[in-house]
Amino acid sequence: MTPTPASQQLFDRARAVSPGGVNSPVRAFRAVGGTPIFMASGRGAWLTDVDGRRYVDLVGSWGPMLLGHAHPEVIAAVGEAAARGTSFGTPSEPEVLLAEEIVDRTSAESVRMVSSGTEATMSAIRLARGFTGRNKIVKFAGCYHGHVDALLAQAGSGVVTLGLPETPGVPAHVTADTIVLPYNDRAAVEAAFAEHGDQIACLITEAAAGNMGVVPPEPGFNQFLSQICAQNGALFISDEVMTGFRVTRAGHWGLDGQREGWTPDLVTYGKVMGGGFPAAAFGGRRDVMEQLAPVGPVYQAGTLSGNPIATTAGLTTLRLADAAAYERLDAVSAQLQSLVRDALDPTGLPYVLQNAGNMFSVFWGVDAPVTDFAGAQAQEAWRYKPFFHAMLDAGVYLPPSAFECWFVSAAHDEEALSRIAEALPGAARAAAQATTES
Ligand SMILES: *Cc1c(COP(=O)(O)O)cnc(C)c1O
Repeated sequence: MTPTPASQQLFDRARAVSPGGVNSPVRAFRAVGGTPIFMASGRGAWLTDVDGRRYVDLVGSWGPMLLGHAHPEVIAAVGEAAARGTSFGTPSEPEVLLAEEIVDRTSAESVRMVSSGTEATMSAIRLARGFTGRNKIVKFAGCYHGHVDALLAQAGSGVVTLGLPETPGVPAHVTADTIVLPYNDRAAVEAAFAEHGDQIACLITEAAAGNMGVVPPEPGFNQFLSQICAQNGALFISDEVMTGFRVTRAGHWGLDGQREGWTPDLVTYGKVMGGGFPAAAFGGRRDVMEQLAPVGPVYQAGTLSGNPIATTAGLTTLRLADAAAYERLDAVSAQLQSLVRDALDPTGLPYVLQNAGNMFSVFWGVDAPVTDFAGAQAQEAWRYKPFFHAMLDAGVYLPPSAFECWFVSAAHDEEALSRIAEALPGAARAAAQATTES
C-alpha cells in the first residue's frame, strides 16, 4: 500500500472527534483495510487526494456525479445561485424547474423534494401507509433503501459490507410489519400476498438492485411486482435513488416500465438529481401524492427541502444529461466491462460481471449468475481486498467494498480508461492469488 501520510493524519484527527472517523460507515475502508483516502479536489473523471496523488474515480460520490466532478456549467450555476442567497424557507423557482424536469422525464405526476434518499423512502412508506390505511410493507433482502428503521431489515450497502446482522436501536416492533423476501423470487412474493394481501400497504424494491453488487431484476419481474400490488390494493414503490437519471434519462423505468407499459405508484429519487448536493425526491400518482400535507392529512416537511442551491445543481446536471451524455455513459461502461473481462479471464479465476444498464459490479469466485442476496453473499468477497488496493496503488479509486456498484461518468475519457486498463491486469492477478488470510 502506498503511504498517504496526509490522509493518515486527517484520519487520526477525525477518529478523535467522530465515530470511526467518518460520517458514513463504508467510507472507513473496514472491508478492504488501510487508511481511507481524504480527497481534496475533483475534476471530470479524476480525484486528487490531500497527499497530491491523482485517481480515476469509479465511485462518483456513490452515484451523483453523472457528469464527473466540478462540471464548469454546474459550478457556475451553483455560484450564481449562492450569490442570490442560500436558503429562503419559501418556495423558489429552481425547485419548480427541477420538479418539472423530473415529471417530464419519468412516470411521476407529482413530486415532493427532500434532502436525502433515506428521507425519500421513509416518506414514501409513510404516505403509502397513510393512503392505504395498512401497516405491512414488503422489501427484498439485499436491497438498501437508506437507513430508515423499518427498512434496515436484511439491507444491503454498508449493512452487508460491515456484516451487521441487524441494527441495535431499531425496536423489534418497528420491523415487525416488514416482510423480507428473496429478490427475484416470484413464488415468495405470491405467497406473502396470499397470506397478508389485505394488510400490505406497499412493496418497495430497488428498480435494479445495486447495493448488494449489481443484481438486475429478471425480465418482467418489476412488471409482475407492479401487477401483484395492484391486484391486492397495495402500492408499488420503485426505489430509483441509485438508478434514477443514471441508466437512462427516465431511470430504470426507461429500461423496463416504459416498454412494458406499467408505472410505479410511487418512486424515489436522489443521488444524480442533486448534482452532488443534498437533494432527493419522492413522487408518483397524483391521487396518492395529494394525500400529503397541506392538501391531505399525511404530514411530511423539511427546513431545507427544495433548497435553491441543491435544486439548481440538480437541474443543471439533468439539463446537461442529454442523449449524447447517456450514450457516452453506456459506451464508457461497456468499454470498462470489457477491460475487466480482459484482465480477469487469463487468470482462470471464476467471476461473474453483472450489469443493469451502465451500472455494473463483479462477483468474485462464483460461476453462476447472482440473482439474490444469498448468491451475492456466497461470493469470495475477500478477493476484493487485494484487488482494491492494487487498483488504488495504480491510481484508480474503486468502491471500498465488493458489495457496491462501480459508477462511471460522462467525463471518463480515453486518458481515464487507459489508466484503468494499465491497472487492471496486476490487480486481477492479485485477486486470483489471494487467500482468505491475505
Ligand atoms: C443511496 C440509496 C438510498 C439512500 O440515499 P441517501 O441519500 O444515502 O440517504 C436509498 N435507496 C437506494 C437504492 C440507494 O442507492
